Amino acid sequence: MSYKLFIPGPIAVSDKTLRAMAQPMVGHRSTDFVALYQSIQPGLQALFYTKDPVYLSTSSAWGVMEGSLRNVVAKKVLCCMNGAFSDKWLDVAQRLGKSAGALKFEWGQPVDPAAVRAELSQGGYDAITLIHNETSTGTMSDLAAIMQVVREFPDVISIVDTVSSFSVLPIKKDELGIDVLLTGSQKALALPPGLAIFSVSARARQRAATLSDRGYYFDFLEFQKNHENGMTPSTPVIPLIYALKSKLEDIAAEGVENRYNRHARLNRTVRDWAFAKGFKLFPDEAYGSLALNCFANNLNIDLPALNKVLKSKHGLVIDGGYGKLKGKTFRISNMGDETDETIAELLKALDSALAETPKLAS
Ligand SMILES: *Cc1c(COP(=O)(O)O)cnc(C)c1O
Repeated sequence: MSYKLFIPGPIAVSDKTLRAMAQPMVGHRSTDFVALYQSIQPGLQALFYTKDPVYLSTSSAWGVMEGSLRNVVAKKVLCCMNGAFSDKWLDVAQRLGKSAGALKFEWGQPVDPAAVRAELSQGGYDAITLIHNETSTGTMSDLAAIMQVVREFPDVISIVDTVSSFSVLPIKKDELGIDVLLTGSQKALALPPGLAIFSVSARARQRAATLSDRGYYFDFLEFQKNHENGMTPSTPVIPLIYALKSKLEDIAAEGVENRYNRHARLNRTVRDWAFAKGFKLFPDEAYGSLALNCFANNLNIDLPALNKVLKSKHGLVIDGGYGKLKGKTFRISNMGDETDETIAELLKALDSALAETPKLAS
């Protein structure tokens, strides 16, 4: 069964990346591994716009999301919530026994910087979680405006998830003052799942040093200590590191600005196509994600039927809505390696599949 994913993660992986993974193993304490690890640091630091080290965690993004809470929350964390992933972060904080405040917005609305200021002003917080691009609703918050507010509160360590926006547009960690910036392999980097990539400020490491219950697997100080020797705390997923190296080479060859422009252009192409069909964007257009589009199913299309035709006749798969938005929205990714040609093929297939898909009785 072979088909191509246009869901917002995991996304399609190129043959070049798959080939890069198929290499003999090296020992993770060998000089060959150290050379591999160190060779990708400059490229990663450039993409993170940071002077801080970039760590590699063999886990999905949630490992580092949970681990970050264990490393930096001593008093209370404020969780900014506007969709499935950001809502879940509050639940995770509570499961860890952390004191947590909820700052809730409607799904499809961005995180409002003024509301962040009002809540942090209440006092008592020493950390904040924020998702830049809420993948469940295709909503991108104004990270620069929110970080400007967070910087007014020097005790507050910021943990920012850019799982589905990293490398789609510039996210300038040091300039924005982000303490923990994290992403995952299977979204915009177009790698298979299994690797989380993150960078931690000295401030956040200092906080971690004051906490005695931060565990082992995601301990920032373990990552730092091993990083200094060009290694990871435990045996990492070496094939994905080969893949990451290959991807950094792809990004350098394309030019990162060209990459950002390509994502913005393809995002617009998909959006224009849907608007011409009569669909509406689910979030406010000003906050529509550049990595994917989440459209309202305002034309009442039978989305499972649409995807069935799309998959069986065209070998393509889009997403029929996440969680409580299932059936009410659909999402199309333009992350990773997509080009004008591949997006054009998708839209042509969608035209044809839509023509044979029934509408639901309203
Ligand atoms: C996909 C996604 C996650 C979860 O990532 P896992 O790799 O499944 O842990 C978290 N946050 C956002 C914004 C995502 O899109």
